[in-house]
Amino acid sequence: MTEQAPPVIRVAVPVPLYGTFDYLIEPGAVASVGARVQVRFGRRPLVGVIIAVNVDSQIATAKLKPVLRILDDAPLFDDALLKLLRWTARYYHHPLGDTLGTALPAALRRTQNDPASGSTRNRGWQAVAEPPVDAKTTLARAPRQQELLAAIRAADNAVAHSTLLARFPGAQRPLNVLTERGLIEAIELPGGLETGSAGTPPALTAEQQTVVDRLRQAEGFAPALIEGVTGSGKTEIYFQRMADTLAASRQVLFLAPEIGLTPQLIDRLRSRFAAAIGVLHSQRSDGERADVWRAAAAGDADIVIGTRSAVFTPMPRLGLIIVDEEHDGSYKQGDGLRYHARDVALKRAQDAAIPILLGSATPALETLHNARAGRFAHHKLERRATGAALPAIRLIDIRSRPLDGGLSDPLINRIRPHLEAGNQVMIFINRRGFAPALLCHDCGWSAPCHRCDAPMTIHGAMSRLICHHCGSAENAPTACPSCGSETLVALGAGTQRVAGALRSHFPDVSIARFDRDSMARKGRLEAQLADVASGKTQLLVGTQMLAKGHDFARLTCVGVLDVDGGLFSADFRATEHMAQVVTQVAGRAGRADRPGEVWLQTRNPEHPMLMRLLGGGYPGFAEAALAEREATALPPYGHLALLRAEAHEQQYPHEFLAAAAETIPMGGELACWGPVPAPMARRAGRYRAHLLLHAARRALLHPVLDRWQTQLTELPAARRVRWSIDVDPQDLL
Ligand code: ADP
Ligand code: ZN
Ligand code: ZN
Repeated sequence: MTEQAPPVIRVAVPVPLYGTFDYLIEPGAVASVGARVQVRFGRRPLVGVIIAVNVDSQIATAKLKPVLRILDDAPLFDDALLKLLRWTARYYHHPLGDTLGTALPAALRRTQNDPASGSTRNRGWQAVAEPPVDAKTTLARAPRQQELLAAIRAADNAVAHSTLLARFPGAQRPLNVLTERGLIEAIELPGGLETGSAGTPPALTAEQQTVVDRLRQAEGFAPALIEGVTGSGKTEIYFQRMADTLAASRQVLFLAPEIGLTPQLIDRLRSRFAAAIGVLHSQRSDGERADVWRAAAAGDADIVIGTRSAVFTPMPRLGLIIVDEEHDGSYKQGDGLRYHARDVALKRAQDAAIPILLGSATPALETLHNARAGRFAHHKLERRATGAALPAIRLIDIRSRPLDGGLSDPLINRIRPHLEAGNQVMIFINRRGFAPALLCHDCGWSAPCHRCDAPMTIHGAMSRLICHHCGSAENAPTACPSCGSETLVALGAGTQRVAGALRSHFPDVSIARFDRDSMARKGRLEAQLADVASGKTQLLVGTQMLAKGHDFARLTCVGVLDVDGGLFSADFRATEHMAQVVTQVAGRAGRADRPGEVWLQTRNPEHPMLMRLLGGGYPGFAEAALAEREATALPPYGHLALLRAEAHEQQYPHEFLAAAAETIPMGGELACWGPVPAPMARRAGRYRAHLLLHAARRALLHPVLDRWQTQLTELPAARRVRWSIDVDPQDLL
């Protein structure tokens, strides 16, 4: 009998290399597919994931390295999730190891077992199964204890301590008494989760009811677009279907864009569902994220709500996926694994044979196209749930008008009566900082970023220059470095400058600024929103942070300062984004009983796309935009993949891309455009160029990309550049 060869496992390692790697394990060691292992790769120890066991390796045993440690006894990724991640890696042509690494929370990706992970614990309370017989009489004269006990009994499992304290301030003492009397007991809830409490849904409007009824008829994989105007009650429809899913003991995955995942939305969930809720967003610590992830994998979380990467949360009982604001750009990751969470979610729902709801007031053109082609059910809500009217959108022609901090006189005059009537006004400008450029009045010099082909943005009233592309920062010069003139002027406006100008026009009005700079501190957004809700803040200035998810009862007027940027951009999606943001921002106005109005400043009042938007709303605009895409064979009528390359030397990306272009069979329905310099030809000190692949049918694109995975790695020019493949690019910048 020959000696038994030691067992070999195959591991996906998070490195930028296609392919997986074989390692030895001790005979008899427990190693399961989907578990993490620590391995040595080159000189570094890394955390990889086992994707096969009992492997018949092509490599001689003597040359195989042993794993350093098996980190999980049980798989962390279940089969369904592994299958989804393999599909994701293949579809986006990204290495499997790095794809799995992207899916894992950071705390679980480290070689040291993170002390924070698995250590956050929530205290909770539950009613004892068999309370003492005299309980009723002891509580007869303690209404507070009765109330608490009722709340705890009403929950399906247990109620988090923090949830109870939030609902019943000062509940600590009565809780202790209830414990002493043997009526409730303290337990530990899985870390990271919180328990909501049951709330009463409103009676649905006729429109909502029709949609819910139709959604309930669908079985198995059932993608549905819910196109509903802002405030039409889409969230209420999600909630109805979530209740159905929870009642069937299945889990719900709720995806929201970064700016849409507001405290308001989470509070609404918490006060509706007596369920275990896990929240995954960027403000949570690594440890908390890992805990939510594990709790979801164990089936303990009933609802997981999160941003983009939450689409990869393991959920063994998954029964429904919701993608709120499905058009939002933040669903597409811009580096590394360039996946689109909506598209991955669709694949996940298909694999699991479950319904998926895509909701938006301004659906992506791709999604509308799928709905029109009958691939998605298409439900429409044309009225607001509260009965409020949609605001009127009108233009202010600012050609040859002076602007003060980005504001025209007519706009100021439109704002004034709203403020005087005690209402709220919002000014939207898609640019943070003070002004987008510093210019010499005498010679025309403008302050450039030394590492990017882009001007520096002025911050803090002419004092600092910051590059929004690479983060470089310096003090603003006091004289022109080119001609010595001291007449330096700020060109254009950002949120800081607009806020300043508004302050001088309306000195007695309380103004709040909402952008990434002003929200840097944790809790600041919540505090500012509370001031808006209470009416203390009357005038809001902000970026798209203000576009979504907020319900401002007293907001009656919205001004949009810069629609023109979206009309003339190198990015083929810019007009679509402009129409979406204008519609979303406009949707903040006139939510309740006060009618709203929206004013757009433009130098192109006759632009056809703007006319379509004003005349036919977003649906009218989308129709025209789809026709334009069809005429130019751009997505969704053509399929794109972008090969990007960058290097410190200008010629290297070009050489690499030219060699890559030669590997493509020309002619037929596959076209290759480039190599060309990227619209921003240099960023953070690197020269950038790209090659665009265009195919009439998606099936033509992927064989080329499959071959590229090996061919490009072998090109000599590849060693001098950083390159990446972007499937379905959102922009060509
Ligand atoms: P959307 O998600 O479409 O923007 P929401 O679900 O947030 O809309 O609803 C907008 C507003 O209307 C919210 O204040 C919500 O509480 C309210 N609302 C939704 N549905 C109803 C209903 N059936 N009856 C009364 N109010 C409703
Ligand atoms: Zn000068
Ligand atoms: Zn820069």
